[in-house]
Amino acid sequence: MTEVLIVGAGPAGLLLASELRLAGVDTVVLERHPWRPDHCRGFNLNARALDLLARRGLAERLIAEGWRVPHAAFSGLPVTLTLAGAYTGHPYSLGIPQTRVEEILEQHALDLGADIRRGHELLTLEQDFESVTATVSADGCEYRIRAAYLVGCDGGRSTVRKRAGIDFPGTAATRFSLLGDVEPADPQELPFGVSTGPGGSVFAIPRPGYVRIITTDRHPPADQDTPVTLDLLQAAVDEALGRHVELRAPRWLTRFGDAARQAAEYVRGRIALAGDAAHIHPPAGAIGVNLALDDAFNLGWKLAATVRGTAPAHLLDTYHAERHAAGAHVLANTRAQVLLGELGELGELGEPGESDDRFGPLTDLLTRVARHPAGNRALAETVTGLDTRYETVPGTGHPWLGRLAPDLALTTGDGRTRLSELLAPGRGVLLDLTGGDTLRASAAGWADRVDLVSATCSGRADVHAVLLRPDGHTAWLRTATQDADPEGLRQALRLWFGAA
Ligand SMILES: Cc1cc2nc3c(=O)[nH]c(=O)nc-3n(C[C@H](O)[C@H](O)[C@H](O)COP(=O)(O)OP(=O)(O)OC[C@H]3O[C@@H](n4cnc5c(N)ncnc54)[C@H](O)[C@@H]3O)c2cc1C
Repeated sequence: MTEVLIVGAGPAGLLLASELRLAGVDTVVLERHPWRPDHCRGFNLNARALDLLARRGLAERLIAEGWRVPHAAFSGLPVTLTLAGAYTGHPYSLGIPQTRVEEILEQHALDLGADIRRGHELLTLEQDFESVTATVSADGCEYRIRAAYLVGCDGGRSTVRKRAGIDFPGTAATRFSLLGDVEPADPQELPFGVSTGPGGSVFAIPRPGYVRIITTDRHPPADQDTPVTLDLLQAAVDEALGRHVELRAPRWLTRFGDAARQAAEYVRGRIALAGDAAHIHPPAGAIGVNLALDDAFNLGWKLAATVRGTAPAHLLDTYHAERHAAGAHVLANTRAQVLLGELGELGELGEPGESDDRFGPLTDLLTRVARHPAGNRALAETVTGLDTRYETVPGTGHPWLGRLAPDLALTTGDGRTRLSELLAPGRGVLLDLTGGDTLRASAAGWADRVDLVSATCSGRADVHAVLLRPDGHTAWLRTATQDADPEGLRQALRLWFGAA
């Protein structure tokens, strides 16, 4: 029997496979496409995703290939959100094709020993008390595979979610956009950014050899899956701009909507969901890949500990608690961005009965908030997920608790290192920042799951000890003004790593 079966080799499935393999879990990934499609959906990794990837040594090679954009946007507000000063070690968004991110993640998972089966499609699944059995189609044949746990990383239309009977409540799409990777006859006519006309706007992103064009689909068909043709995109662009801008040589044409839905349960028995399978949201902020990676980081170590039998009983439930809350936050802020964008458009287009005046005060108010340094930072951290703080971590009073601890520069007996390097093996880390060894006795029972490291960190004399979960989130912390608290530390170790 396989220990974990992952369905879907997108960002969520590939990273989850690596996380499980780091813990030595036998992992099979099923991917229905025999090869990766040659079109690319996303083009960015945000600051939070880079912070997380850095904790496995994966960020540097991506950063070396991408381009840095030191700000973010809140759609509908005419204010740039600066990432300088935000709670991150990577104060920028990284421009990099999603396909390249997937290639790197896939190679990493393969290097760690994941069994990735392309051209294998999950058809059905059954769950019993001990296992999940999947029926898979490959090369025109069907086979069955049994696993202790199954994770649906199979995208927004997730077969796993449907077969597991997990509800997907939310709002259906009301507005649609057309996307085309095309070659305008005259690229000067569609420069980078938004071009507006009497009928709307067209967003253009020049890419090597083509231009990605996005415009509103003002006449969506009843069936959203109706293929998009070049003629349709051409008509929509011409209508928006009020003039003809010839488009040619389509590479990829698609339609996407602003539906916002979230799985009611991220875990049901032996089945879990991650990435788009667990949530879909409007594209504002371009956060889908990032959210998928975040889910995988959170689920990987918890599922591995559950498979190994060391996890405390509630551990997998905290995956739902933490990531459902984070997903709900993203749904709320992306929907808010869509609404603001719509209000702006209503004003611009002068729809009957509506006027700029009616919505102006709301946009003005939010613009003032965004121009204030604290408001700007709060919005920047919201749209990038940098404000993620897990309420499941008990304790208050220190800004690191429940959040990613900063990537501290440390000096240990072995020389200089960083916190991210200590986290790279995917285990818990208990950091004694007094440079002493006073925590060893308290943590001895967890030495097989948690690495105790004695270090000093210049400029952080206020913190004496920190317990990090394998995903880098701070689970417990003792400041210089707090007394030694061996029982508090043991409670935290039991809560996240199980019995001694
Ligand atoms: C046009 C567009 C632009 C986007 N731009 C951005 C952006 O700029 N930034 C960003 O962060 N996000 C962007 N996104 C969103 C992003 O692409 C997704 O959020 C992200 O890919 C989700 O990752 P995932 O691993 O959850 O799912 P997916 O990437 O969808 O992967 C799911 C995988 O499961 C496979 N699968 C499905 N069913 C089965 C089955 N039954 N058996 C086996 N395999 C199966 C699929 O083939 C697929 O490979 C964009 C999306 C679109 C559509």
